Amino acid sequence: MDFKDETLKCKDCGAEFVFTAGEQQFYQEKGFTNKPQRCKACRDARKAQRNNQQQNN
Ligand SMILES: [Zn+2]
Repeated sequence: MDFKDETLKCKDCGAEFVFTAGEQQFYQEKGFTNKPQRCKACRDARKAQRNNQQQNN
């Protein structure tokens, strides 16, 4: 497999972020077909929010 770093734009804050080759490989291994829509900061913020809201998942 031949992955290359790719620059994407965050849907939430508009910042450009790198979807790295390693992340692309991880996504493929997990079977994710969509590229990330948000930068890491926004993803972490959303994850933290979800964790606060529901502990039982
Ligand atoms: Zn963002």
